Amino acid sequence: MSDDGIDGLPEEGFTLDVPRPGTGEKIVLLTGAGVSAESGLPTFRGPDGLWEGYRVEEVATPEAWVRDPALVRRFYNLRRRAIANAAPNPAHRAVARIQRDLGARLVTQNVDDLHERAGSPHVLHLHGLLTEARCECGPASISAIGYRDLTEEDRCTRGHFLRPNVVWFGEPVPLYAKACEWAAEADWMIVVGTSLTVYPAAALVHEAPSGCRIVLIDPFPSPSIAAQRGRIWVLPAAASVGLSALVRHWHLK
Ligand SMILES: [Zn+2]
Repeated sequence: MSDDGIDGLPEEGFTLDVPRPGTGEKIVLLTGAGVSAESGLPTFRGPDGLWEGYRVEEVATPEAWVRDPALVRRFYNLRRRAIANAAPNPAHRAVARIQRDLGARLVTQNVDDLHERAGSPHVLHLHGLLTEARCECGPASISAIGYRDLTEEDRCTRGHFLRPNVVWFGEPVPLYAKACEWAAEADWMIVVGTSLTVYPAAALVHEAPSGCRIVLIDPFPSPSIAAQRGRIWVLPAAASVGLSALVRHWHLK
């Protein structure tokens, strides 16, 4: 089967009838864990409520940091090493292409840097970025650390520990307002690797104007969403399959 230039063929198991966005139309891409899962990075929370063997409350809350900063540091050091050893997949590359060719804005829930490494020109990391650290005393002091481990030697000028620049459960999401601004201006939203029924995807779609068209790429879409017609197109596919098909269908270069 040819992998380019053929439109609408159900080779992926679905029919593509999404019109290409018009010139000047504003597109927001929203990506989640499903995109990076295809690069071998485990999803944030599995069905058993564990993240790489840890309960979320042990490693991803402000209380966990106060209780045992060494454990939290070690946990995120391992996650950072994992992303250093992971590579972007076709879904990341398709996102970069949609951004470059159609001027789309990208909001991701992912804390890895695979979108950047796939060539995305700008990325709004709603939940922060693992290759950055910040002082535990406030979010204003973000610094890039690459893939190196954080240790207890990493301190701000006032002696506080540096922590990963990720948003933990129970913390405010500083970039959420910006993401809402973009959603409110969107003519199109492309949602991939995350569920339209849970925060923040559901909330951001709610911020979009009533005429905004929505493309949902989800291997297991909820029946209520799949049944909708008109402004929602559902591609029941994995992120890389659905996004690659969309890129071909829209003849992006
Ligand atoms: Zn400080």
